[in-house]
Amino acid sequence: MPTSRSVLVRPFLLMATLAGTLSGQAVRLTDGDLLVQRALASLQHDQAWTLAQQIAICEIPAPPFKEATRAEDFKRRLIALGYLDTRIDAVGNVIAQLGAGTGPTVMVAAHLDTVFPEETDVRTTRIDDRVAGPGIGDNCRGVAVLLTLAKVFKETGLTPDGRVLLVGNVGEEGPGNLRGMRHLFTAEFPREIDYFISIDSPGGARIVSRAVGSHRYTITFAGPGGHSYGAFGMTNPMHAMGRAIAHIAALEVPDGPKTTFNVGVVRGGTSVNTITPQASMEVDLRSESADNLREMDQRLQDAVARGVAEELARWPASRAPITVRYDTIGIRPTGGQSDDAFIVRTAKAAAALLDDGLNWTPRTTASSTDANLPISLGIPAITISGGGAGGGAHGTEEWYRDTADAYKGPQFALLIITALAGVRLAP
Ligand SMILES: [Zn+2]
Repeated sequence: MPTSRSVLVRPFLLMATLAGTLSGQAVRLTDGDLLVQRALASLQHDQAWTLAQQIAICEIPAPPFKEATRAEDFKRRLIALGYLDTRIDAVGNVIAQLGAGTGPTVMVAAHLDTVFPEETDVRTTRIDDRVAGPGIGDNCRGVAVLLTLAKVFKETGLTPDGRVLLVGNVGEEGPGNLRGMRHLFTAEFPREIDYFISIDSPGGARIVSRAVGSHRYTITFAGPGGHSYGAFGMTNPMHAMGRAIAHIAALEVPDGPKTTFNVGVVRGGTSVNTITPQASMEVDLRSESADNLREMDQRLQDAVARGVAEELARWPASRAPITVRYDTIGIRPTGGQSDDAFIVRTAKAAAALLDDGLNWTPRTTASSTDANLPISLGIPAITISGGGAGGGAHGTEEWYRDTADAYKGPQFALLIITALAGVRLAP
């Protein structure tokens, strides 16, 4: 005879009832639904607490590769909430775990890093419900929402049927190149995660369901170089790069999802009267389609090779070679995920439940976020907003407004998490 019995429920009934899809029918909410309903009320009650966390976290600098101080602080906050086993992994991600059942494993993450260099003044200023400060929305909002979820899970005794991993991760912004995610999905929890949710920045029911991938390179052209007058007739790496840029500028993009290219930075040169020994450019390719990205990669390399060949052909008497080197700045992988995917439909249903005809009407979109990595591995993943309103992300004038319904951000996340992970009820 079993000594204990647990029941897996998902708050579908609650969601369906409140969303009105079962209107006209008498529905009795399950115990699981009632637990979720209690947690939703707690999240609303905790709105001011969430904002206080958001401000405190924001005032701890977290530049790319220097997230450690904020990570230690975040770990302390989780331990204080009762997550005694909270740990920091080899690359700096903070990991706490809720539940240890055999149901699905859901990872919920918020990135700790900002785009701001170390010397940035990260103090915040607050006037009523408006707070200004670098990183206050992107992503102190996400981190604070994650903490509030952690708090309410403990307080209400809401336990997943499987596992919920609460993660403050490193390396989301450009230079970080998703290194936090790479480590989590390949080294820390390989093949263990069934669903992934990233909470990133303020806003309503924006569901990032498709990943915009990118390939970014520094391409360096080099040769011996020489005097502009004395060595005239020698091949010129800067001219080769100019020819290559002209070919890149003329590229056609493949059909299908939006695909883009950009030469964003050019560098090089010694003086006006020198054939420079070196010139370089930074190039960004983007697409939602992995095939299109591969195709564009090939077209980029062809354009560069053509530029060099033309420069060599221009000066057949020159014996000076031109070499080309590609250094990868960042690779953000992409992959297909349909808006019919279970995780996307679940998020839409959760948003519909909160919908007041304003900010919580669900809409799906494509972006480049931490969810890129799991999506590229075929793991169902979305990025959602954390409630409230904001603007000026990645600038020092960034602001956040704690709107009257800002608590819907954590509620949105909780509904999705419990729908995916299930709720374990005590016998
Ligand atoms: Zn962000």
